[in-house]
Amino acid sequence: MNCEECNNEGSMLIPDYQHDVMMRVQCVNCLAWANTKRELSISMSKVLIGMTQSRMAKLLSDTIIELMDKENSPDFERLFSLVATKNKDSLVSLLQVMA
Ligand SMILES: [Zn+2]
Repeated sequence: MNCEECNNEGSMLIPDYQHDVMMRVQCVNCLAWANTKRELSISMSKVLIGMTQSRMAKLLSDTIIELMDKENSPDFERLFSLVATKNKDSLVSLLQVMA
């Protein structure tokens, strides 16, 4: 989502006239959107839990590869290396960083 309230900073400065200062407050728009995404994720997880492990693994693999391909400087050598060493935790971490 592109937040027009805070320009995707997650917070904004608003004037506090009582103390004559500017206060930084969290963007309500972004907080609401984060909450919507969290709820969607919980609901989606309940739907996807019925998928087979192999289908889920293929989907995750495709997602990691496509996300890597969209990076500014894709590091496929790292992907090949993580696959060769069967480094499952690092593959998942990589997904979390790129997503
Ligand atoms: Zn915002």
